Amino acid sequence: MVPRPSPDERLSSWLGRLARLYSMPAEALLAHCGLGRFSVRELEWRLGVGEGSVLAGRTGMTVEGLRRLTFDEITPQARLMIAAASRYVCPRCPAGLHRKATAFPWNFWCDEHGVRFGGRAGTGLDARLPQTQLTRLDPSARSGALRLADWAQGKEEGAPAVPALLDLLTTRHRRSSPPSLAEQPI
Ligand SMILES: [Zn+2]
Repeated sequence: MVPRPSPDERLSSWLGRLARLYSMPAEALLAHCGLGRFSVRELEWRLGVGEGSVLAGRTGMTVEGLRRLTFDEITPQARLMIAAASRYVCPRCPAGLHRKATAFPWNFWCDEHGVRFGGRAGTGLDARLPQTQLTRLDPSARSGALRLADWAQGKEEGAPAVPALLDLLTTRHRRSSPPSLAEQPI
């Protein structure tokens, strides 16, 4: 018996659900499949053809279907951004289900449910900023998330040129405050 992967589910989540069905840790399940020398995290990052076929053979999945659960599309420079466990929690996703989107720091919404993620320990953005402010920030956050997702996948089309980026980053967003005596060097 093998659970069907949910949309955008990550391999560690799916393997965890499968292993729980048989009351064993995911590592034991891998060992049972003859993949004991690999960690779940390694396979989730890159599923080699050999490991993919072994796992596919044991679970009735296709190698392609398994590879969709991995972070295969992510370039090595963005690898550090992938959290080992979910960074965020969707209030509507079933407990124990971890989607790839929750691994990246720039995603703030669950695409399946269209709701804002919460923090893992009740420290989500909702707890820090008022709704009105969050709604004002949403459009920029969404375009930033799209841009960063492209970067993580090595897609550079549409990226702002370096001078344009520097312009944006060095623009003054506030007037400088009047000089204060306390800030003067002695
Ligand atoms: Zn959700």
